[in-house]
Amino acid sequence: MSFSFAINIYGCQMNQYDGDRLRTALTFRGWKETDTSQADVVIIVTCSIREKAEQKVLSEIGRYKKAFGVKGKPILAVIGCMAQNMGVELIRRFPQVRVVVGPRHIGLVPDALEKALRNKVVVYLDEDPREMVDLKVTPIIRSNPFKAFVTIAHGCDNFCTYCIVPYVRGRFVSRRPDEILEEVSELVEDGILEVTLLGQNVDSYGKDFCKGYRFSDLLRDVSRIPGLLRVRFTTSHPRDFTDDVIEVMAEEQKICPAVNLPIQSGSDKILKKMNRGYTVKGYEGIIRRLRNAIPDISITSDLIAGFPGETEEDFVDTLNMLERMQFDLVHTASYSPREGTPAAVMPDQISQEEKKRRLAIVNELQDAISFKKNLDLVGKVVEVLFDDLAPKGGGLLQGRTPTDKVVLVPGDETMLGKLYEVRITEASNWYLYGELVSLRDFNDVLEVGL
Ligand code: SAM
Ligand code: SF4
Repeated sequence: MSFSFAINIYGCQMNQYDGDRLRTALTFRGWKETDTSQADVVIIVTCSIREKAEQKVLSEIGRYKKAFGVKGKPILAVIGCMAQNMGVELIRRFPQVRVVVGPRHIGLVPDALEKALRNKVVVYLDEDPREMVDLKVTPIIRSNPFKAFVTIAHGCDNFCTYCIVPYVRGRFVSRRPDEILEEVSELVEDGILEVTLLGQNVDSYGKDFCKGYRFSDLLRDVSRIPGLLRVRFTTSHPRDFTDDVIEVMAEEQKICPAVNLPIQSGSDKILKKMNRGYTVKGYEGIIRRLRNAIPDISITSDLIAGFPGETEEDFVDTLNMLERMQFDLVHTASYSPREGTPAAVMPDQISQEEKKRRLAIVNELQDAISFKKNLDLVGKVVEVLFDDLAPKGGGLLQGRTPTDKVVLVPGDETMLGKLYEVRITEASNWYLYGELVSLRDFNDVLEVGL
């Protein structure tokens, strides 16, 4: 019997990837994707990174209570980090939740959904952090036809003191290179032009193999797959980032000149309390080497404001660091205590108001830096791969430069999946606006590189 499903995805790009694989697996089983008001099952792929992320999911779950009470559908499947974090409590609190599956058992989801539709309640939590039942499916039915994510490693062993990821996603395991290369090749055959390799710490890739195949080897091998235009990766970790990655980025034209290297704080004292394993000076050394080897590189980062024990002096160190680094963009958040992590019980927690104040100051400073960097591009011609309609509509298309800047240009759907030269006419801190100069021939690009 065929059922209908809807998927709502929260959180990181790994969740997008998992969502697309589930979508593909269920479609192959004959299920139909529809919207949440029609679906027999609503699958919610969840995030636990901050309390706010969990609250959003809880309020979405609550919204289905009435329909479920009246029609007995949709039933809900809660998948991923929050499923692992809250477990059976989700079933106890919400009768509409009939499936709860942790991130390392995603391979069991399709069967679990079918059981739930036969009136069972199914819970698969990750009891052993090394155990894994993955979904062996290439995400052919995707939310985006031109670019795709590919997870190259699961879990994380770093245990930064604020972070829930190692507890909900388990131990670090690299996927085998042949499996990854085969998946990327299949995606390219299916029309994919750009892949982003995903891991909580891509620089640790291969450390769990006995033969010395490193992340830089994988990057080189992926970038040489015929027909692929662009390769991106995220997230890098300053403790594990090595110069061979810089070398391969400088050598291989298809590897985009863009790195997300989270610094988290500009104070060595706070970095130590976070268990990050590097100093601000060490971090600055990596940035210098990256900028020397790849002068047009864009560097983005992540930052937490108001970590426990962060004094005004530590905070000023962070502001000064931002001035010195001149990041293209920084993903910022105020510290959110996560139960079970060491930082949640550290003394000297910062008040909510003070965290908010610090976050606003950080954002104001970084917005000005990002804006200035984007303003430098006005008048320049850049290469853009258009991959979607702009979220706000208005007849605009959205694409990205190799440096991962978002460019909006008036246009229509016939331009999607094509490369254009675009002159930048206007900048904001998050977006660039432009006008078309010319269409670029893929074959030229594939031969000479981007
Ligand atoms: N593995 C990557 C790294 O080492 O930076 C990033 C993974 S994490 C999913 C993404 C970002 O969420 C982190 O870089 C951090 O800035 C933020 N984050 C994680 N836990 C947080 C917390 N408890 N409060 C606020 N932000 C947090
Ligand atoms: Fe969390 Fe740290 Fe692992 Fe990133 S490296 S996922 S911040 S524990």
